[in-house]
Amino acid sequence: MKLVKLIANLGYGSRKQVAAMFREGRITDPQGEVLYADDTVAHGDVRIDGEPLDPPPGLVLMLHKPVGYTCSTKDRGRLVYDLLPARFAARSPLLSTVGRLDRDTSGLLLMTDDGALLHRVVSPKSHLPKVYEATLAAPLRGDEAALFAGGTLMLESEQTPLQPARLESLGPTRVRLTLTEGRYHQVRRMFAAVGNHVEALHRAAVGGLMLNGLEEGRWRPLDAQDLKRLW
Ligand code: URA
Repeated sequence: MKLVKLIANLGYGSRKQVAAMFREGRITDPQGEVLYADDTVAHGDVRIDGEPLDPPPGLVLMLHKPVGYTCSTKDRGRLVYDLLPARFAARSPLLSTVGRLDRDTSGLLLMTDDGALLHRVVSPKSHLPKVYEATLAAPLRGDEAALFAGGTLMLESEQTPLQPARLESLGPTRVRLTLTEGRYHQVRRMFAAVGNHVEALHRAAVGGLMLNGLEEGRWRPLDAQDLKRLW
């Protein structure tokens, strides 16, 4: 692909604007040699104002989502996209969230422009575990772990029972819940179904991938090692 198109697709500007950046000599190789709009240089060998290009298409990133941000491209409030560089909104293909976390949920959120990966991670058929930590309004009554593990629990207004889920107690009102599917407000609705209420919810892991110290509000691209943890 010609550089002008590759760089415009990364959201740095329209083709016209990027062509102007070439004319201004802002786009170079790592040694500072000026590149041209029609060149077809490898992505890793391009610098804009001396900086490496943003990750190429096929990007998968993890974001530590804070409470208060929605997984939507348009909403009146704060969006998870606000936590990424502004030009990411103009990338082609666009980045999508891999499933959703509620506005009031924090934790590990994946975003990608790779449709096949997105589909695989969200598909219940992949059985990829998603691990949540919740603070509950009331202590567990005692039968929840067996109920959640049974594979027979029905959520209100749904036709199919939930897949078995693993519940561990972390304290009187603190639990870890591992799901292999992602229905709408699933964790909150599961606890509502057993007469409890989720006061705080955090996603700690997706597959074998954890936040591992990534600060709230920050993101990083996944590398090949990370991606293996999503299988
Ligand atoms: N379950 C919920 O209830 N909310 C989330 O954000 C994720 C899972």
